[in-house]
Amino acid sequence: MSPNGSGDQAGWRLAVDQVRCISSGFCVGTAPDHFAMDVVSAPLADVVAPSDKVIEAAEFCPVEAISVFDVQTGTQLAPKR
Ligand code: SF4
Repeated sequence: MSPNGSGDQAGWRLAVDQVRCISSGFCVGTAPDHFAMDVVSAPLADVVAPSDKVIEAAEFCPVEAISVFDVQTGTQLAPKR
């Protein structure tokens, strides 16, 4: 079903706004399986299995640099506004 051939499994798409990120390290500490820090944070994979830790990282990022979307619906799951 997916146009890029990655399958149609449920999943979440992660994005980090690397201009906005202030390198606090919170997301890497909270969800080390999903984020890594170089100069700024970046997702380790664009699409991941649903995870409470990912939501927590997005909700508590001090500058709301992390966005989490449902792959199938495109709905933004975090941060809640
Ligand atoms: S929590 Fe936000 S500001 Fe901190 S490193 Fe992660 S993306 Fe950057």
